[in-house]
This record gives sequence, C-alpha cells and structure tokens, in this order.
Amino acid sequence: MINFAYTRASGIADALRVAAADPKAKFIAGGTNLIDLMKEDVERPTRLIDITHLPLKGIEETPEGGLRIGALVPNSDLAYHPVVESRYPLLASAILAGASQQLRNMASTGGNLLQRTRCYYFYDTATPCNKREPGSGCSAIDGINRQHAILGTSEACIATHPSDMCVALAALEAKVHVTGPGGDRAIAFADFHRLPGNTPQLDTNLHPNEIITAVELPAQGFEKNYTYLKLRDRLSYAFALVSVATALELEGGTVKDARLALGGVAHKPWRDPAAEAALRGQAANAVTFRHAADLLLRAAKGFTHNAFKIDLARRAIMRALSQAARGTPQSQTDKKIK
Ligand SMILES: Cc1cc2nc3c(=O)[nH]c(=O)nc-3n(C[C@H](O)[C@H](O)[C@H](O)COP(=O)(O)OP(=O)(O)OC[C@H]3O[C@@H](n4cnc5c(N)ncnc54)[C@H](O)[C@@H]3O)c2cc1C
Ligand code: SF4
Repeated sequence: MINFAYTRASGIADALRVAAADPKAKFIAGGTNLIDLMKEDVERPTRLIDITHLPLKGIEETPEGGLRIGALVPNSDLAYHPVVESRYPLLASAILAGASQQLRNMASTGGNLLQRTRCYYFYDTATPCNKREPGSGCSAIDGINRQHAILGTSEACIATHPSDMCVALAALEAKVHVTGPGGDRAIAFADFHRLPGNTPQLDTNLHPNEIITAVELPAQGFEKNYTYLKLRDRLSYAFALVSVATALELEGGTVKDARLALGGVAHKPWRDPAAEAALRGQAANAVTFRHAADLLLRAAKGFTHNAFKIDLARRAIMRALSQAARGTPQSQTDKKIK
C-alpha cells in the first residue's frame, strides 16, 4: 500500500478546497470499495479527504412529493427508512439484494453510485486493462468474461457496473445532486453513468472534484407493482449476473406506465425507452412481456463465456414483469436481518 495524507473535511467548502489543492486526492465515505482498491494498488490517491462528517446524512421529503437522500446515508438506513419501505419498496429491495448487512451498514449512497467495476482484470495490476491504465488493452475481451457486459460494450472495455441500488434508481428516474468548483447541478440518473466507448477510465459524467450531495427520488414510487430480481452465483454476498428492476402502474389488466432496468449486463444500468413504450397501453400478459424483453435485449452481444446471459436476462425480465403485475415482488432472503 502506498503512503497517503489524510484530511478530515470540516464542511463541503473545505472538502472542495482540499480537493482543488491536491489533484490526486480522493474523497472517502464508507471506504468499502476505495480501501480495497488501494490495497490492491489499483487506486493510488495522494490524499484521502474524509467526508463522513459532512452534513449529508438526512432523508427528507421534498415539496414536490419526492424524497431527498443525503449522499452519506448508509445503504442500511436507506433500505429500512419507513418512507422508502412504504413508498419506494423497489429501492429497498434492490439495496437489500446487495453485499452483506455489515457492508450495507458502512456503504454510503454516494459511494454506491461511484463503486467501480468488479472485472477481475481491473483488480489484477499484472494484466492489461484500459479502465485502469488507458491504452494498455482489455484482458477480458479474449479472456474470462463470464461476468461481463452483453450490452453497450466497446472494443476498449466490456465491464459491467456492479451496483444493485443504481438499477432501482435508474428505473425510478432519480436525480443526482452534485456540487463542485462550477457550483451546484443536478444530473438525471440516465446521464450519470457512462458507456465505456473509447474512454473506459471514466465511469460517470461527474466533473473533477465534484461531490455528490444527494439523490432525489420523484413522487412516483410504484409501491404496488414492482420487483427487483437478482440472479447470481450465490444467494448472498455476490454480484449480479443479471438483475431486473421493474415497476408497473396498472389499470385493470392494462399497463398504464412501466419502468424496466437491467443490472449486471452493461457499464451502466440498462434502460431502453422502446421497451417501456411497448408495455404501455398493452395487456399485462406473457406476450407483452416477451416483446418488451426482446426489445430491451435487441442489441445484446455475448462473448466467449457470457452469451448465456442473453437468454438468462430474457427469462428474468419476463419473470420480474409477471411478478410485478401480480403484485408479488421477489422477496430478498436477508430482508429481516437488521
Ligand atoms: C465483498 C463485497 C460485496 C459487495 N456486494 C455488492 C453487491 O452485491 N451489490 C452492490 O450494489 N454492491 C456491492 N458491494 C459494493 C458496495 O455496495 C460498495 O462498496 C459501496 O456502496 C461503496 O460505498 P462507500 O461509501 O463504501 O464508498 P467508498 O469506498 O468510500 O468510495 C467509493 C468511491 O466513491 C467516491 N465517493 C464516495 N462518496 C462520494 C461523494 N459523496 N461524492 C463524490 N465521491 C464520493 C470515493 O472517492 C471512491 O472513489 C460489495 C462490496 C464488497 C466489498
Ligand atoms: S473489461 Fe474493462 S475493466 Fe475489464 S479488463 Fe477490459 S478494460 Fe479493464
């Protein structure tokens, strides 16, 4: 592990000032991803700016009827918050499908958005990786790529974004509030994460030294008809091979509104307006769900070890949509462990 300096930020302005003075500094929140990356020599910050004492731990209802979640709210507190449990159960369900209870107690809302890929080669500094070292090559394309992306890939990188929470936030159309040297701004969730293209080292559209201050949920929470379905190698403590966040608004047996996002298949949570449009106004049945699944996966392309994900995703989408339509969401096994 390298030597680094440590600063405990006394406020947001102080954190931004320290970051501006030290271009290789990194903010640290729960540390559950960053510390691992430093131990593996993947991240080499010259300074850690501890932001855990900043006033970003609140969860407040907004005047528009939505919810504003501070960037430092731990994943556990968010999943068990009464308003999230009752009005945004898709989000609670996705969070509880991730990591372990101990990790969720430490992991922050902002850190979850910015966690880095779990591509094994990204963590192995003995191998080429364009995300870790731009221009060095991608070891996964011709290597072991069972966990990797089937949508939105590039010749430079086929990594996936590992978060469960982000898949639900994409489906719910959250906004990310940030502040930085250029002032405050809000980023639509769909625009927050990037596809790899030829700059896979960039995971998001955050500007240098910007801090995430909050995530805002709109009023519509889809509390009746939703499901987060996560398929993985183990039932706990494993990242998704494929996950589906789906939310429906039904009128009789007809879909009035629909959201559909996939995790574990791309460099960002994967949505497609065409797939959701194909659900709206249609009968909530297997034919409709199959059509939406085909549309969402129409550009999917498998590599040597992960082509199975295409059919797995198709079946997962159909199952998640039918569970959501019946109002029987996937239960997360560790939901009751607090
Ligand atoms: C064994 C293991 C299993 C896991 N399984 C899952 C899983 O199944 N599903 C899942 O979704 N996640 C899983 N995780 C990931 C975990 O959820 C993330 O590590 C966690 O959410 C990161 O949050 P943190 O606060 O610890 O971030 P940190 O490690 O503190 O930071 C991560 C990154 O975010 C930056 N950062 C943090 N907060 C801010 C902010 N407010 N503004 C700007 N930059 C910021 C840091 O500089 C750093 O680059 C797992 C982790 C481990 C170790
Ligand atoms: S898939 Fe991306 S992260 Fe993985 S080795 Fe290739 S460039 Fe690196």
